[in-house]
Amino acid sequence: MPSTSLGRRAFLGGSIAALLATRAAAQTAPASAGPVDRALIDDLVAANRILADQGVVDGYGHVSLRHPADPQRYLMSRSIAPELVTAGDVMEYDLDSTAVDARGRTSYLERFIHGEIYRVRPDVKAVVHNHSPSVIPFGVSTAPLRPLYHMSAFLGGGVPVFDIKVAAGQPTDMLVRTPALGRALAQTLGDRPVALMRGHGAVVVGDSLPRVVFRSVYTEVNARLQAQAMALGGPVTYLDDEEARRADASVGGTVPRPWELWKKKALPR
Ligand code: MN
Repeated sequence: MPSTSLGRRAFLGGSIAALLATRAAAQTAPASAGPVDRALIDDLVAANRILADQGVVDGYGHVSLRHPADPQRYLMSRSIAPELVTAGDVMEYDLDSTAVDARGRTSYLERFIHGEIYRVRPDVKAVVHNHSPSVIPFGVSTAPLRPLYHMSAFLGGGVPVFDIKVAAGQPTDMLVRTPALGRALAQTLGDRPVALMRGHGAVVVGDSLPRVVFRSVYTEVNARLQAQAMALGGPVTYLDDEEARRADASVGGTVPRPWELWKKKALPR
């Protein structure tokens, strides 16, 4: 019957097209750096849940981990709310932020933040991007974010502010949705642990998932406390550079303690 024959031909044509598309994707997609230890994936899932639990991310924001076997790759969830992330959502990317094996999963629009920072910061093993509410005022006013207490001593030495309008040379939708904007943000971050993003949020980096989570949480807390201290009126005494350096060296060594606590609280849900 002609209709059956036509249908069959269309079906075969579709199969061939799908096969060719799969082959093309296989040729253009970057190679995988190989499987990752399940415990590390679980830590990445935990980092997502902790940041949500601690009020650093909500329906938005993301956290990534540099691939342990290949510095040219990183791992990050597909585009979903951090609190909902499970191991099956974790995808691998190259530093151009191209997914190795997307399999239909969508990627965060602002993934270039991660790829471009990993490219220029070999010391960085984990990156968080968030819209941490208390930091927003410090990205849009003349008040610099400064370390108010020992827990946020890593803020000593200054927190740069990325202005996307300056970087793009024109108004944007505020999103770091291109490699060029990611590079500009990485340049603003320089060798620092935290950069604010004017009218948007922040980016936080560290040498491990526990440290980048610790820094993200205490950047939010410091911003909240600093606004309170400033609202009291009169001069505010911040940690001086030497205090910040010393406190960062000692408190920075205790990161596993809150990490274990936060993980226990965030994971069972
Ligand atoms: Mn964002």
